[in-house]
Amino acid sequence: MPGFEVFGAEEKKQVLEVLDSGVLFRYEFAAQRQGKWKVLEFEKAFAEYANASYAQAVTSGTAALKVALAALGIGAGDEVITQGFTFVATWEAILDCGAIPVFTEVDMTLNMDPADLEKKITPRTKAIIPVHMMGAQARINEIMTIAHRHNIPVIEDTAQAAGARLQGRHLGSFGAVGTFSFDAVKTITTGEGGMCITSDHGLWQRMSEYQDHGHDHVPNPGGRGGEGRSFVGFNYRMMEIQGAIGLAQLAKLDDIVAAQKRNKQFYQEAVSVLPGVQFREILDKDGDSATFCTFLLPDKKQATAVHQVLRDHGAGAIRWSENGWHYYPNWEHLLQGKSYCRDGWPFVAHGKRRVVYDPQALPISAAIMERALTFQVPVVLAEEQKTTVAAALEKAARC
Ligand SMILES: *Cc1c(COP(=O)(O)O)cnc(C)c1O
Repeated sequence: MPGFEVFGAEEKKQVLEVLDSGVLFRYEFAAQRQGKWKVLEFEKAFAEYANASYAQAVTSGTAALKVALAALGIGAGDEVITQGFTFVATWEAILDCGAIPVFTEVDMTLNMDPADLEKKITPRTKAIIPVHMMGAQARINEIMTIAHRHNIPVIEDTAQAAGARLQGRHLGSFGAVGTFSFDAVKTITTGEGGMCITSDHGLWQRMSEYQDHGHDHVPNPGGRGGEGRSFVGFNYRMMEIQGAIGLAQLAKLDDIVAAQKRNKQFYQEAVSVLPGVQFREILDKDGDSATFCTFLLPDKKQATAVHQVLRDHGAGAIRWSENGWHYYPNWEHLLQGKSYCRDGWPFVAHGKRRVVYDPQALPISAAIMERALTFQVPVVLAEEQKTTVAAALEKAARC
């Protein structure tokens, strides 16, 4: 997910334009800003890129989820279903609304299992957040069909899959809202930043107001101070420097994905020497943003052995099942309901624990995750690194 690899002169030029104007705020200052509205331009360019009608920039991918949930009216007691393999941010945003995160199994796409989603829907389910993990598609068509049948809105957490598509359609544009992250390690980066896309004008309007303290942005002779509001909001505003960097990065996105696809090809061929190896199911290879190459060994024992050999030979892979930030059984702070609030909120309400999380609740995911290993695919892949990886895999094939 390496927008930072191609950070360069274009980003610098964009930032200098902002510094020359001296206007860092995305609203107001019309006289000083020399016609430059970087965040607004970035929103327009991003919506156009993803083929959505509207985009709302915010401070992070986590904020994007929070703003989308808030604009959908999610609150205390509501249940929001997501998957047990995602970054903690997905369920942090749900908890931050006072809602209760409910977790589904993943299938061989390493994303939400639609059959398990269907089982976990209750009358309290008010939103579904499938996550397009590691740059590739969740079964979004099946998920949308189930969601429509139950009349539940879908937010696609597309933080890891900017530039990815399914049958030509951009991920993030299937659900009511698609959210993106531009943090330091994502496919395009603004340092910190996020985006919500939607084709529902009312929803966009509420997101736009919520992320700016409720400001309705209706032109007013009294300026910003005279603007109206219809509900309580918060501050998740992106600043002009981030918008400027975003414009430069977005212009590189398709080239980043193309380079990753070429490099993923190398990883896939190199990994194929492992006996019994199987690749993660990718629903549409043409639409894969190719940020990661994930493969599965026949069992946990072999995955552990291969993992060790790769590490010993300078080509360490990611083992998500051991990672503390992306996988349900390892989220001890969630499972134990650790909160710094005196009354235990959001895990406890009215003195009662609202939900108890069983670490063994997702056995199908566990059986998949314990066999999986992942290489991050870089944009720039040196010949030297290729040699190291290929040699390590040859060693691992004989372990
Ligand atoms: C990175 C990420 C986020 C959060 O984005 P930030 O910009 O870091 O707040 C949310 N969901 C997933 C799946 C992510 O990978």
